[in-house]
Amino acid sequence: MTKWVYNFGAGEAEGHAEIKDLLGNKGANLAEMASIGLPVPPGFTLTTEVCSHFEQTGSYPQDLKEQVQKALQILESRAGCKFGDSENPLLVSVRSGARARMPGMMDTVLNVGLNAKTVEALAEQSDDRRFAFDSYRRFIQMYADIVLGVDACHFEKMLQRAKQKRGVKQDHELQVEDLERLVRDYKTRVFVELGEEFPTDPQVQLWGAIGAVFKSWTNPRAKTYRELHDIPEEGGTAANVQAMVFGNMGHDSASGVAFTRNPSNGDNHFYGEFLLNAQGEDVVAGIRTPSELTMQARMAHGNNSPSLEEKMPKVFRELMAIRDQLEKHYKDVQDIEFTIQKGKLYMLQTRSGKRTTQAAIQIAVDMTNEGLITKQQAVMRLHPSQIDQLLHPTIAENAKKQIIAKGLPASPGAAIGKVVFCADEAVQRVSDGEKVILVRNETSPDDIHGLHAAEGVLTTRGGMTSHAAVVARSMGRPCVAGAGHLEIDEAAGKLKIGDLVLEKGDKLSIDGSTGEVLLGEVPTVLPKVTGAFRTLMSWADEYRTMQVRANAETKADAILAKDFGAEGIGLVRTEHMFFAGMRITAMRQMILASDTKDRKDALHRLLFMQREDITELFQIMDGQPVTIRLFDPPLHEFLPNTEAELSYVARAAGVPVERVRRRATELREFNPMLGHRGCRLAITYPEICEMQARAIFGAAAEAGRTSPSKKTPVAEVMVPLVATLEEFKIIKGIIDKTAAAVQKEENVNFTYRVGTMIELPRAALQAGKLAEEAEFFSFGTNDLTQTTYGLSRDDTGTFMSDYKAKGIMAQDPFVTLDEEGVGELIKVAMNRGLSTRPDMKMGICGEHGGDPTSIDFCQRTGLNYVSCSPYRVPIARLAAAQSALKAQGERVTETRAARPRNPSFGPWCRLVSTRASSCARFRGFLEGSGHLREFSAEKSLGCLKGGPRQPPSLF
Ligand code: ADP
Ligand code: MG
Ligand code: MG
Repeated sequence: MTKWVYNFGAGEAEGHAEIKDLLGNKGANLAEMASIGLPVPPGFTLTTEVCSHFEQTGSYPQDLKEQVQKALQILESRAGCKFGDSENPLLVSVRSGARARMPGMMDTVLNVGLNAKTVEALAEQSDDRRFAFDSYRRFIQMYADIVLGVDACHFEKMLQRAKQKRGVKQDHELQVEDLERLVRDYKTRVFVELGEEFPTDPQVQLWGAIGAVFKSWTNPRAKTYRELHDIPEEGGTAANVQAMVFGNMGHDSASGVAFTRNPSNGDNHFYGEFLLNAQGEDVVAGIRTPSELTMQARMAHGNNSPSLEEKMPKVFRELMAIRDQLEKHYKDVQDIEFTIQKGKLYMLQTRSGKRTTQAAIQIAVDMTNEGLITKQQAVMRLHPSQIDQLLHPTIAENAKKQIIAKGLPASPGAAIGKVVFCADEAVQRVSDGEKVILVRNETSPDDIHGLHAAEGVLTTRGGMTSHAAVVARSMGRPCVAGAGHLEIDEAAGKLKIGDLVLEKGDKLSIDGSTGEVLLGEVPTVLPKVTGAFRTLMSWADEYRTMQVRANAETKADAILAKDFGAEGIGLVRTEHMFFAGMRITAMRQMILASDTKDRKDALHRLLFMQREDITELFQIMDGQPVTIRLFDPPLHEFLPNTEAELSYVARAAGVPVERVRRRATELREFNPMLGHRGCRLAITYPEICEMQARAIFGAAAEAGRTSPSKKTPVAEVMVPLVATLEEFKIIKGIIDKTAAAVQKEENVNFTYRVGTMIELPRAALQAGKLAEEAEFFSFGTNDLTQTTYGLSRDDTGTFMSDYKAKGIMAQDPFVTLDEEGVGELIKVAMNRGLSTRPDMKMGICGEHGGDPTSIDFCQRTGLNYVSCSPYRVPIARLAAAQSALKAQGERVTETRAARPRNPSFGPWCRLVSTRASSCARFRGFLEGSGHLREFSAEKSLGCLKGGPRQPPSLF
């Protein structure tokens, strides 16, 4: 026989927190609270399996009725009253509650069991007729709406009219006669709407409510919520039937909600609100302004109405003790609901409290220091991607902002600057000391110098893996991609958003964490790894076994990387060094050179710049490893396409326009990604490779004299896009020869290493051979993914969503490493490489190096390091620590239900508007949306105050 029903109450429970798949989160925690002796009104839980059965067959399991009747008897004896009794009636609530938290998304019916007879008994027994009829009119209102489907606005209107008639503002100011009349009017309305009487039989009411709760699993609100939060469709909700306790029994009664600590900043202060003479739903629905729980909070808010601490000191102390007990028991912050009936406290709900990232860190560190959790557990408490929002300049929390458009949050952080439409102009303005936002329909490799110069990037087309998005993330530039409502009129130098027109040079702000485009200059705050954040990161480092390096070319990025805890640079993309200022001109001269001599002259100019740049990196990293990749992109990326740009470039480089045009045509390729690039360039133009080697070794020698520790760095020279051992040998030959020459010229000895990128399947398969010559491997997983899939990263936008929808690809392989395919190649290459050269160092660079799931793969596979964008270094440190701990059997206890998702405002607008009358829904909205980094209970509770029914400035 299947057990469909689990009892709880009177200090014991058949269920417990571990079986929340069966009992739902609410039911499991009610059971848990009951069994640790907290004052929980008795009740029972119908399992989620009943819901699934109901879903699949349209009916209840056969033996359910019997089990419920038995449970009801136990409940009656525990509560000391009888369901439907005309002298001593039991009332119950029927509450939804799934495995995953879906706050306010499903239904709950309170005060079930009231009818003309039982209401009289309740009045008699409580000696409070007003209370009895208040409960009765609440019940009819709720039941008619949720179970019978009568539009709630009818009742709202009648309630409004009753208050007007009586000349009062608040529900609780209505007199008993008003409530009695309302009850009659409500019933009449139900009859008018449905053509049948409101059900009077408590058993009918009970099963009606249970059915409605189960059905609410599939209401549109709940469905949308699940979609947005990656909660599986199967599973269903449990239904909890629980004895009612009454917070509306007069002025020694109350209802409230609280967090055991401040969920906004993590302060170890009890945090919450209550309403006198009210039922729980009133607090979340914002019917009246609630009061603070503690005196301290009341004073801080300059509130006059007494706190619970002052109003009911005894109950308050009891609640404080329960707060401690809950935190000790759950070892985490709890979000609780409670009710006080005539001075007696009851606990109605507890669950792990949602919190901001800042709070999550503070709480994890505090709880460790308080001895509640271990350091390991603290490290496991956050999803690494959560800390992303702490690592970029962000829009100040209270900033006034005017949203003019929305796109995808493609690269996090806030950026402010003047609108420009072309990469060269971006570079120009930046070298004049301005800050710019590059606005394009989409970007191409030709725009890299502009992307680099700009504070942030805004595109009207393209997705999360579009060129702009990928490059922006790798450079740590905020990016909003695919803001489709923008219209760029490049010729006129205008940007149109509906009726709004911005001119080139006008100020604009973008928030790459939310996808918002904001008018003008919005104040921002800078990131810092300090305080609790720093502590938590240092604990992560204690458990981490893999090295974390950064991809960096500029001084600023290298310094940032070091600040963020990078242990070296895993990838210096030397071509990026040629995009800045004068360098691009020298670079173009080199490409436009008509013979080897001309080319050598131009290269000579580049040599000095390159050497200077690399010296700086060596100095900053001061003895830590720095891996420098030889020139990688095809040369035509440096030459312009448009006529206007052609003449501009020709002038700057001092050559005829004709030559630029001809060269650009000569260099044009059908498939640049698979064309003349990477080490293939060095094969054709060995002088480029020689210049770079000279710059690198010269820099190493110089850094040995000038860096703080005076140590000569071990330069790691990395050859890109190698497919064959022969290629590698030729290039290594040039490098070795140059190294010997520099050692002699500079009169120093230094060690260096020459290694290869593994970014072609052929290289992975030939790794055993390559390892004969290559001294290290770095897996270039971006290109390796492109070449393994035969898929261009910049062209996936049009079909990737179909692939995801049809289940062909669960994840974007450019975001999360494809373990089955690309991962397999990496493993093959590692094995073959190590069998030739057992002590070989191997790591990955590219986007995946900063992705927690991919980092976990690297840990499991035994790579030595990951290298990622400086902004992701702390994320990688935390992710690597978690992977190492997981390998030791530590459990993940993330405090967040879902990973952040692309905010999609459409469905949310609908969600809020379908139930505009209920702030509880809105609370769910605030809590649930991962992108709302400014979410704070302060705000969510604040919205309950006085009940603004529209989300603040979001829409
Ligand atoms: P939700 O999941 O939307 O929070 P709940 O089931 O928690 O819905 O119930 C809504 C409100 O009713 C809450 O404030 C809760 O505290 C209150 N409530 C639920 N059951 C009872 C009960 N047995 N006695 C008193 N109040 C209750
Ligand atoms: Mg609740
Ligand atoms: Mg590559």
